[in-house]
Amino acid sequence: TRQWRLASRPVGEPTEENFELVTVERPEPDNGEVLVKTLYQSVDPYMRGRMRDAESYAEPWDVGDPMKASIVGEVLESNAGQFSAGDIVTGELLWAEHAVADANELQRVNPDHGPVSTALGVLGMPGVTAYWGLNDIGDPKPGDTVFVSAAAGAVGSVVGQLARLSGARVVGTAGSEAKIDWLTDDLGFDAAINYKNTDDLAAAVDEACPDGVDVYFDNVGGPITDAVWPRLNVDARVAVCGQIALYNETDVPTGPRKLAKLIESRATVEGLLVSDYQPRWGEALERLSTFVGNGDVQYRENVVDGFENAPDAFLGLFEGDNIGKQLVKVADY
Ligand code: NDP
Repeated sequence: TRQWRLASRPVGEPTEENFELVTVERPEPDNGEVLVKTLYQSVDPYMRGRMRDAESYAEPWDVGDPMKASIVGEVLESNAGQFSAGDIVTGELLWAEHAVADANELQRVNPDHGPVSTALGVLGMPGVTAYWGLNDIGDPKPGDTVFVSAAAGAVGSVVGQLARLSGARVVGTAGSEAKIDWLTDDLGFDAAINYKNTDDLAAAVDEACPDGVDVYFDNVGGPITDAVWPRLNVDARVAVCGQIALYNETDVPTGPRKLAKLIESRATVEGLLVSDYQPRWGEALERLSTFVGNGDVQYRENVVDGFENAPDAFLGLFEGDNIGKQLVKVADY
């Protein structure tokens, strides 16, 4: 069976050279463990942080070791009472075609509830991030303007639709015309800005948000945040979810310098870490399942076929290749 290992730590943008594909013997499950065949593997922006040798909220990976990923897979062999062969599960395993896992660290996925891949996207970690980040920190009210960056991504697309359901005016940024069309034509965004072909972002934000911004759900940081910041209204809420525009910077720009805006607006800026919402995970998934079931929340997946293409799929996140959740299809289900 094959695994992807971290070959070296990237400096700046990661490249294919940072990854090594190795063939190893298929592992055997011990007592309490199961052997899982990966069907879908997730690639996520936070993995860039784990490639770096620096303290963060997610532990760094060691060079030479297999990397970890959330996967959806099929149980092939079980030495644990909770699961039997054929069950579909999700959990944090490895960038691998097969892996063993402690049964207590896996969750069951019910294939009757929809495509199993959604457990990695709209009905998984990105969906929960969107749900609690928006509702707990953003707290949108009818008539508010909610601004979300990386709006056509896994988290952002859910944030925007939930904000619309709460009666807010919704504005987002994304990096291609196809994404802008999806946001405004299908997902009900009131306005969307293609930041890659906009010279004056500040003017574009002004035009799209004539009443200012009440909730800023920040997935990106950098120039987009610089443009939104001066438009924060009194008592605005800022959920800092991600800063992908800065993940590959070797010289992180000085800042933040525009904090005086917080005095004027009395805005609240709060960092968000989805793992803190573990106790309320199920509640978010229940609500999201209902919204997906009745069509109130739509989702897309960008599925890269073939385990050998997993690094490509990961690198694509930094190019904006994905509309919706970026996934690797490893085996047929
Ligand atoms: P996405 O599906 O949104 O994929 C990443 C997207 O980011 C790309 O498609 C691209 O879209 C955009 N992007 C990439 N590079 C840049 C850049 N330099 N400037 C602006 N945009 C860029 O990923 P997720 O939905 O999984 O994650 C979104 C953000 O949320 C990430 O920053 C991630 O780290 C964070 N996150 C945080 C969590 C937490 O607990 N705090 C949990 C989950 C995610 P485009 O350029 O077309 O807009």
